[in-house]
Amino acid sequence: MIVFAKPSSGVPSRPSRSKTEQAAPLTATDSLAHIVIVGASLAGMQAAQMLRRGGYDRSLTIIGDEPHYPYDRPPLSKQYLAGSWDESKLRLRAAVDPDELGIDWRIGVPARALELSGSSVMMADGTSIPYDGLIIATGASARRLPGPDLEGVYVVRSLDDARALRDAFDAEPKRVAVIGAGFIGAEVAATARERGLEVTMIEAAKSPLGRVLDTAAGLAIADLHRSHGVDVRLGVGVHSLVSGEGAGAHTVAGVALADGTVVEADVVVVGIGVTPNTGWLEGSGLTIDDGVVCDETCLAAPGVVAAGDVARWPNVRFGEQLTRVEQWDNAVDQGAYVARRLLAEDEVAPFAPVPWFWSDQYDRKIQLAGMPTSSAEVVHGSMAEQRFVQIYGRPDRDELVGALAWNRPRQAVQARQLIEQRATMAEARETLGG
Ligand SMILES: Cc1cc2nc3c(=O)[nH]c(=O)nc-3n(C[C@H](O)[C@H](O)[C@H](O)COP(=O)(O)OP(=O)(O)OC[C@H]3O[C@@H](n4cnc5c(N)ncnc54)[C@H](O)[C@@H]3O)c2cc1C
Repeated sequence: MIVFAKPSSGVPSRPSRSKTEQAAPLTATDSLAHIVIVGASLAGMQAAQMLRRGGYDRSLTIIGDEPHYPYDRPPLSKQYLAGSWDESKLRLRAAVDPDELGIDWRIGVPARALELSGSSVMMADGTSIPYDGLIIATGASARRLPGPDLEGVYVVRSLDDARALRDAFDAEPKRVAVIGAGFIGAEVAATARERGLEVTMIEAAKSPLGRVLDTAAGLAIADLHRSHGVDVRLGVGVHSLVSGEGAGAHTVAGVALADGTVVEADVVVVGIGVTPNTGWLEGSGLTIDDGVVCDETCLAAPGVVAAGDVARWPNVRFGEQLTRVEQWDNAVDQGAYVARRLLAEDEVAPFAPVPWFWSDQYDRKIQLAGMPTSSAEVVHGSMAEQRFVQIYGRPDRDELVGALAWNRPRQAVQARQLIEQRATMAEARETLGG
C-alpha cells in the first residue's frame, strides 16, 4: 500500500522534501573558518541560510556579479513581466534584510578565476578572496543567437533583462516573436498574449518542450497557445534576424525562417536555453563539462561543492548518469544540501531528490515531478480537455519515475511521493487515475 505524507502547509504546490534534504544540526568545524559562496541567487542564498540556521557562526562571504541583492527569477516571465508585480516583491525572503545573516556581501563584482591549489577566488577587480570552504552557485546564462546585437531583441534571465523587456511591452509593440518554445519562451508568449500583444512562437522541433515532454504533451502546449491566439510555428528553424532599413538598420524588424518565410516583429524574445556559468572556472582544475561535475554528494573537489543550475552530478535515484537540473526547487534543496555537505564530518547520504518543476501559462499550472522517459501514459483526464496526469515508467524495470500534471496539483503532489516511494506503474495508475 502507498502511504501519503501530508503536503507541507503554506506552500500548497510544493511537495514535502526527501529524506536527504531534511534539516539537521550542522557541525562547524575549526578547519572552516571562512566559507565563500560564489553566486548571489537562489542556491547560494539557500546555502547561506542553511549554514547560519545550522549554527555556522564563522565568516561567510557571498560574491555576486549582478548589481542586486538576491531575487527570485520565476516571476520575471510571469507576474513581473505581466506588470502585476513590482520589483519589491522579487527580493528573496532571506535577503530582505541583507545584514540579518551576518554576510560579507561582494555584490556587483564577478569572480574571475579560481585558484584551487591556493584556495582562493580571484575577483574581476584584481582582489582575491581566500576560503576554507567554497560553494559554487553561479547558475546559468541565457543563450543568444549569433550575429550582431540588434535593438528590440531580448532574453529573460536576469532582472535587468526582464526590466528591458517589460519596458518594451509597455511601449505596446505591434508584433512580438518568441524564438524557442521551451518553458521560458512559452511563458513569455503567454504573458505577452495576456497583455494583448500579437505573438508568434517559433520552434525548430516538432513540438514545444521537446527536450522535456513527449510529443503529445508538447503538442498540448501548442494547442493551449493557439487557443489563446498565438501563431505557433513548429518544425521550422530560424535562418536569421532581419533588421530594418536606413535609420532602422540596427533595430530588429523580423525573423527570417528556414522555410523562406519572414515573421515580422518589432520585439523578438530569444528563449533557446541556457549555458552554465563556468567560464570563470576554466583552467582551475575542476572538471567542467556542461556544468561543474560533482560526485553524488555534490563535491567537486576537497572543500568545494556546487549547487543549483551550474551543478552536474549523478542523481543515484535515477542511475549513474550525470544530471544538471534547471529548476527552482532543485536550487533550493541542493543549496541547503551542500551547506550541510561542506560541514559534515561523517559520511553524508547522496543528494538524490525527486526533481520538481512548475510552469504557469494562462490559467494552467503545469507541474512535472521526477524524470520524464519515452514511456508516457495518460492515466487521468485527457489532453483534449487540458486537464490530465501523464506518468512515465523506468525503461529497465517496473517503476514510476516521472509524472506531468496539468491543473491537477493534488495528483502532482501524490506523484512526487509515489516516485520517492518507488511505486510500480500499477500503483501509480491506481492512485493517480480515475
Ligand atoms: C524567467 C525565468 C523563469 C523561471 N521560472 C521557473 C519556474 O516557473 N519553475 C521552476 O522550477 N524554475 C523556474 N526558473 C528556473 C529557476 O529560477 C532557476 O533554476 C534558479 O534561479 C537557479 O538558481 P541558481 O542560484 O542555481 O542560479 P541563478 O539563479 O542563475 O543565479 C546564479 C547567480 O550567479 C551569478 N554569477 C554568475 N557567474 C558569476 C561570477 N563569475 N561571479 C559572481 N557571480 C556570478 C549570476 O549572475 C546569478 O546572479 C525560471 C528561471 C527564469 C530565468
